[in-house]
Amino acid sequence: MADDLLTTRARVMRDLMATGVATADVVSLLEDAVSERRWWSEQWPAGREYVDGLVAQDVQDALLEKVGRWPLCTQCEDDDVHALYIHPELGGPDPVWVCEHSGTAIAPLGGLGTDSASR
Ligand SMILES: [Zn+2]
Repeated sequence: MADDLLTTRARVMRDLMATGVATADVVSLLEDAVSERRWWSEQWPAGREYVDGLVAQDVQDALLEKVGRWPLCTQCEDDDVHALYIHPELGGPDPVWVCEHSGTAIAPLGGLGTDSASR
């Protein structure tokens, strides 16, 4: 179980680093989210496939208060700064970051900022 959550932590951490916001404060927000969801996941092992997306959303919410919107869309041409959101929104396997502005899947969770991101 703990190992599973380490994978979750690593995926979200990769996106934080890829977007240049992985300061010590932000990493501790991630640690908090992971430890809360670890408890949740232990109560409901069948919910494991939801955890990656939920932790990402927890971190996104926490960052909104501390830093601002995250992660920002870098794919759209227009100047209207907007964030990406995890889909499926209510959790599920294989979470992806989606630009709701253009309706495009930008990258899988843990895959932000890579050149393989689809346009
Ligand atoms: Zn966009």
